[in-house]
Amino acid sequence: MSRLMLGKTLERICKAVLLLCLVHFLIMTIFYLDIYTQRFDIFSRFNTRNFSKVHQYFNISKPNGTSLTFLGNEDHFVSSRKLDHNLTVTKKPLPMCPDVPPGLVGRLLIEFNSLMTMEKVQRENPDVRMGGKYKPSDCIAKQRVAIIIPFRHREHHLKFWLHYLHPILRRQKINYGIYIINQHGEGMFNRAKLLNIGYIEVLKDEEYDCFVFSDVDLIPMDDRNLYHCYDQPRHFAIAMDKFGFRITLKGMKVSRPDSKIGKYRMIKHERDKHNEPNPQRFTKIQNTKVTMKQDGINSLKYKLVNVAKYPMYTNITVDIGTPPPRPSRG
Ligand code: UDP
Ligand code: MN
Repeated sequence: MSRLMLGKTLERICKAVLLLCLVHFLIMTIFYLDIYTQRFDIFSRFNTRNFSKVHQYFNISKPNGTSLTFLGNEDHFVSSRKLDHNLTVTKKPLPMCPDVPPGLVGRLLIEFNSLMTMEKVQRENPDVRMGGKYKPSDCIAKQRVAIIIPFRHREHHLKFWLHYLHPILRRQKINYGIYIINQHGEGMFNRAKLLNIGYIEVLKDEEYDCFVFSDVDLIPMDDRNLYHCYDQPRHFAIAMDKFGFRITLKGMKVSRPDSKIGKYRMIKHERDKHNEPNPQRFTKIQNTKVTMKQDGINSLKYKLVNVAKYPMYTNITVDIGTPPPRPSRG
C-alpha cells in the first residue's frame, strides 16, 4: 500500500518537473523569437520598464562637444538600437553635480610603503581617459579643473600621488585633467615658473576654468577637501600670498589645496639637488609689489620641449632656461 503511494508521489513529482521544463522551454523560445524577430512588442515594453529600474544615466558624446544623456543601461540601449526595438528611451538632461558629493568617505588612510606601479594605478582607474582626464558620468560638474604639478625626477612620488588622487577626485565628482609640468635639464628648479607655464600650457589643451596647484608629494588625508575653485575672491588671494605667484588675476580662478597640518600627508624626502633654498628669497618676496608688474605671465620665457599624453596624466616638459645651479656650500 505504502509502496503504491510512494510510486504515485514520485510519478507526480516527475510530471511536475517535466511540466516546469516545458514551461521554461516555452519562455526561452518566446524570448529567443523576441530578440531575433522583434515580433513580440510586449517584451520591449517589459524591457523599457527595466530601464527605469536600472535607473542609470549614460552619455553619448558628439564630436561637437555636446552630449546626449539617456536613462538606462548602456548595453540595453546599444543592443536595442541595433535591433530597432520600439523602446522608449527616456531622454533626460544630466543634473548638475551636487555641491556636496554623496560618495565621499572622509578621513583616508595614506601610506607610502606598499609597492606602487603605474600599471597598478591604471588598473585601479579604468575610467580615467588618456592624458589623465575624467568627468563624472552621472552629472555635470560646474567647473573644468586643471590640476598642475611642478615636477622633476619624482616618478616614485607621482605614482603614489596618482594612486591616491584619481579615486578621490572621482568621488568628488570633479571634471579634471592632471598635468605634470616637468622641468627639462639640471638647472635650478623653479617651481613658481613651472606653475605659470602650466597655466598657459593647459589652456592650449582644454578650456579650463579652475586651476589647482599641487606638489607631487602632497596627498590629502580627507576627501572632503574638494579639489575645485571656490567663489570668494578672498580665497584666491590667500592662495596667491602663500604661493608668491605673480600673475594677473583678471577673471581667473586659481585654487590651491588647503595645506593645514594634519590634512595632508607629505611623502618624506631629502632635499633635491638644484632645489636649494634661494638665499635671496626674503628680499625677493618683500619686493613682490614692484617685481610682479614685470615678472610672471607677461614676461614668461621658456621653450616647450615635449607634450605627451599618458593614460594617467599629461606630461609637459619645458626648458625654462635657468641659470646653472649655485655652488653648494660646505
Ligand atoms: N619638485 C620636483 N623636483 C624637484 C624639486 C621639487 O618635482 O627636484 C616639485 C615637487 O612637486 C615637490 C614640489 O616641487 O613636491 C615642492 O618641492 P619640495 O618637495 O622640495 O618642497 P618642500 O618639501 O620643502 O615643501
Ligand atoms: Mn616636498
